[in-house]
Amino acid sequence: MKYRRKPVELECEEALLLFAPENKLSSLLASVKKRASGYKGEREFDYHLGLVDCNEFRIIQDVRLIHHSQVFQIDTMIFTPKFVAIIDVKNNGRVIDLDGERDQVYSDDEKLSNHIAQARRHKILLQRWLAERGFRDYPVEFFVVYSNPKVILQISPKYEKHFSRFLLIENFPFKFNELCDEYAKCAAFEGYVVAAKQVLAGHRPKQMDVLRTWGVTKEDLVYRGVQCSECNRFGMLRLKGMWQCPNCKHISKHAHEPMIRAYLIVVDEQISVSECCKVLGIGSRFTARRLLLHIGLISIGSGRGGTYKLPKR
Ligand SMILES: [Zn+2]
Repeated sequence: MKYRRKPVELECEEALLLFAPENKLSSLLASVKKRASGYKGEREFDYHLGLVDCNEFRIIQDVRLIHHSQVFQIDTMIFTPKFVAIIDVKNNGRVIDLDGERDQVYSDDEKLSNHIAQARRHKILLQRWLAERGFRDYPVEFFVVYSNPKVILQISPKYEKHFSRFLLIENFPFKFNELCDEYAKCAAFEGYVVAAKQVLAGHRPKQMDVLRTWGVTKEDLVYRGVQCSECNRFGMLRLKGMWQCPNCKHISKHAHEPMIRAYLIVVDEQISVSECCKVLGIGSRFTARRLLLHIGLISIGSGRGGTYKLPKR
C-alpha cells in the first residue's frame, strides 16, 4: 500500500531555501513553515489511524488522481469491504467555524476555503473516477479531521447532517468504527482490493518546477556554503573528514549531503565537480569528487567535464 512521504512542494521549497536570493527568503520561509505544519498534522493523523483496527483494509495516502482534467488530491483513503473513506486533514488555527447559515468556513474570523464543499467535491470526483472503471456501487464516505489539538470546532445547526464527518483528530478512530458498524449489515463489495489497486495505479505524482514557481533563475541563486544544522548559519569549514561550524563549533560528517541533494532538486539532476566545490564552498576538487561518490552518486562522462547524478531507482 502507499504511505505518506514528505510532499514534493515542501521538499522542493526546503531545497530552494538553501540557495534562495535574499529578497525571496522571508516569503519562502513562511511557505515552508506552513507546509511543514500541514505535513506535521498529517503525520499526527497517522498515529490516530494506527488505532483503527484495519487488518483487512487497504490504506493509500497522498493520492493525486485526475478525472477528465480535474485534479484532486486526497490525504488518506481507507478501502474497506463495505465502503471507501476519504479523509482530509486540516491544521487550521484555534477556532473553526463551519457556518451553515452563510455556507462558509472561518478560522479565527478569517474566511477559509469551504471544507464541506471541498470534501463533497472530492467525494463526487472519486465516485465518478471509480464508476468509470467499473466500481459503480462502491460507497464513498468522507471525513474532515482537524489536527490542531487545541482547535475548537463550531458547527452550526444547518450543517447538522455533517456533524459526524467533521471532527477532532482524537475522535477519528471512534467515529470511523461507528461508521463501520452502520455498514455492518450491508453486503461486502467484492472488488474493493482491485479498486484500491486501480487507485494506486492511477496516482499521478505532482511535479514542481520550484524555480519557475518562485520566479527565480539559476543565475539568481546564492551559494553560501554548507549550512550548520545546529545554528542554521552557512559557511561550515572543511576539516579532515568532517565539517565544523565556525559559529557554534558543531561538528558534522554529513553536513554536505543536504546541500548536494538540494542542488539536484533545484538546479539540475546532475552536478559537476566544480559546481560541487561552489555549492560546498571548498577549493579541493579531490574532496568534492570523493564526497559526491560517497553519497551514492554515479559518475557520467570523464575528465573535467564529467558530472555526477543519482542512480536510477
Ligand atoms: Zn553552527
